Amino acid sequence: MGGSSKGLAPAHRRIRRCVGCGRELSKDCMLRVVRSPSGEVSVNAAGKAPGRGAYICADSACVRMAMKKNALARALKHPVDKELYARLEEMCVERG
Ligand SMILES: [Zn+2]
Repeated sequence: MGGSSKGLAPAHRRIRRCVGCGRELSKDCMLRVVRSPSGEVSVNAAGKAPGRGAYICADSACVRMAMKKNALARALKHPVDKELYARLEEMCVERG
């Protein structure tokens, strides 16, 4: 489903690198984690929040990989809670 509009942006501009597996994919299939200017890290699926962002595949394997490598903390230059990884995994399931 989703019903998001297609063809608005050139495909190559929507490619992002996953902090878990390192593959480059369309950000439509990825989750965005953002560190706000105030230093709060949160999942931002819509991709519109301001701040430094990192992308990860909507795939629980990638989330676990990223957790092992502490990849989100490195990408965001900010400590990331295990809770956040748990939230990401939940979102993977939801997206099915
Ligand atoms: Zn990945």
